Amino acid sequence: MAELEGLEFGKSDFVLLDEVTMEQFMDNLKLRFEKGRIYTYIGEVVVSVNPYRQMDIYGRDTIDAYRGRELYENPPHLYAVSDAAYKAMKRRAKDTCIVISGESGAGKTEASKYIMQYIAAITNPSQRAEVESVKNVLLKSNCVLEAFGNAKTNRNDNSSRFGHINNYLLEKVRGGGTSNNDRSSHKAVMSALDVIGFTQEEINSIYQILATILLLGNVQFESDGESVQIVGLETVNHIAELTATDPESVSKSLLYRTVATGGGEVIEKGHTEQQACFGRDAFAKALYERLFGWIVGRINSVIEVKDYNPVLHGKNTVIGVLDIYGFEIFDNNSFEQFCINYCNEKLQQLFIELILRQEQGEYNREGITWQHIDYFNNQIIVDLVEQPHKGIISILDEACLTVGNVTDTVCLDSMDTKLAQHPHYTSRKLSPTDKTMDFQKHFRIRHYAGDVTYSVEGFLDKNKDLLFQDFKRLMYNSANPVLKEMWPDGQLSITEVTKRPLTAATLFKNSIVALVDKLACKEPYYVRCIKPNEMKSPVAYLGLLENVMVRRAGFAYRQHYARFLQRYKMTCEYTWPNHLMASDREAVEAIVTQHGFQDDVAYGHTKLFVRTPRSLYTLEQERAAL
Ligand code: ATP
Ligand code: MG
Repeated sequence: MAELEGLEFGKSDFVLLDEVTMEQFMDNLKLRFEKGRIYTYIGEVVVSVNPYRQMDIYGRDTIDAYRGRELYENPPHLYAVSDAAYKAMKRRAKDTCIVISGESGAGKTEASKYIMQYIAAITNPSQRAEVESVKNVLLKSNCVLEAFGNAKTNRNDNSSRFGHINNYLLEKVRGGGTSNNDRSSHKAVMSALDVIGFTQEEINSIYQILATILLLGNVQFESDGESVQIVGLETVNHIAELTATDPESVSKSLLYRTVATGGGEVIEKGHTEQQACFGRDAFAKALYERLFGWIVGRINSVIEVKDYNPVLHGKNTVIGVLDIYGFEIFDNNSFEQFCINYCNEKLQQLFIELILRQEQGEYNREGITWQHIDYFNNQIIVDLVEQPHKGIISILDEACLTVGNVTDTVCLDSMDTKLAQHPHYTSRKLSPTDKTMDFQKHFRIRHYAGDVTYSVEGFLDKNKDLLFQDFKRLMYNSANPVLKEMWPDGQLSITEVTKRPLTAATLFKNSIVALVDKLACKEPYYVRCIKPNEMKSPVAYLGLLENVMVRRAGFAYRQHYARFLQRYKMTCEYTWPNHLMASDREAVEAIVTQHGFQDDVAYGHTKLFVRTPRSLYTLEQERAAL
């Protein structure tokens, strides 16, 4: 049974700090971490520090201790927030979402697994078979998604390159680099695929596609100065067999591309050796990416049971768990960091909007006066990236659409011209004295989390859809229905494709906008993950100090009068064993006054509002001492 911790473990909520300074924040975080306390609150937000070792805090007894309790009744834990989300769904029929953020390796995916395990453990007490099977699928899906979607990076051996459970940005380069050759985990993946309900035909197709990707790596080209040939045709025959296509079509798509001329004429153009290698690699990456997207889609379709679902509880309310990469600031920041950081700007904006809206709504309902909270609105940075015509994505897309030799540098020039006046954008050309940037290469965005300098090198190539339509058509024409299903855009003609190509940045933007729309109508809970060896900068860029301040400005906790009484009536002579007052509210007033924190509360229509958790912890300790 989890006991409330003593003060030797530091302050379990940063709102309790004597002063909100970086120093005090860090001291408390370090003290708690050294004492094995990896979770600390900021109000309802959980700050989690990665322990990099197995902790004995996820067992059945811990789950039982948190079940149905309020946040401050137990030491900080992911389970408490999971339970809060669950209660919001059950009691108030609210859609909720637990947003987990933090940098690579900080523990987001582990956290999401513990949260799902908790929810799975407390739902479906009657063990209905169809519900159990969906739960099983959900838990097993982690294993499959990790096997296919994760990659070893230099910061995390098991880095997620997908967003649960939509793949928002699968880094093709990393994703294609691994898949697991460890025998036991291979077995686990296969059994998971089976549990999830993949058919034998589908599992075979997965193998065939993986084999094709490996074989493509063996395809070599040679040039006699005039035309390009494939070296040895056995590999091509083998690929044709695996993909249920014919060898001639495979060779042709590797050696030629169809292009639409300005006059609307369609011609075939032979590749140079370099183009052929490039096309082959893009094809291998795309195969992997489509395979992963398809697996995610299949898992989703299994989870979405029509009439009943543990995650879709009763009236279609949901608890979403979003594991999303945090802000990235490296020595070299490229297109991927640009996308990730843009995504974080969007989420930060939503965070501010939702928290404030949520608070304001509750205060209005309860008749409590709303205090204005001053905060930085990052809409201006979001606009810098996504605004039509003027934003960076638009400028990039325009450069990608322009026929002729548009280089990254030309694109940077165009950004400099259009964004010269923007307060959050700069480049070497715009601030010539700043020697930290290169004239030809760099631009800098002042993000809410800090300045990030991006190298524009490779932006255009990464933004263009570089896969020749010929490969898409080849796959669409496969006799294997599973493969065909993955390539619906293969049916488009080359003239249709040339007219409206979708760029990577625009696709990413669309998926983030859709994600934000989905989240905007949910009640959010947040988990902020931090790595122990580099705590300070994330504290700064996750805006945690600001978060503490906002929390201290308003009321950190609120509780229905009846429930408050139920829990604390034994701490006051006027309410124990029962009160004789006209209303629960008056009885609560008696408790508050007896403990001397009347200045720390406000009385709403149905709830008591408490400004700092200190008061509640005092009550909790007194209650425990009785
Ligand atoms: P990425 O953004 O790269 O996907 P991530 O934030 O999802 O990173 P995780 O994969 O969750 O990071 O964590 C990295 C490693 O840290 C895990 O493989 C595990 O070894 C360890 N770890 C994280 N959280 C915990 C925890 N609560 N208990 C024990 N070990 C943990
Ligand atoms: Mg992860």
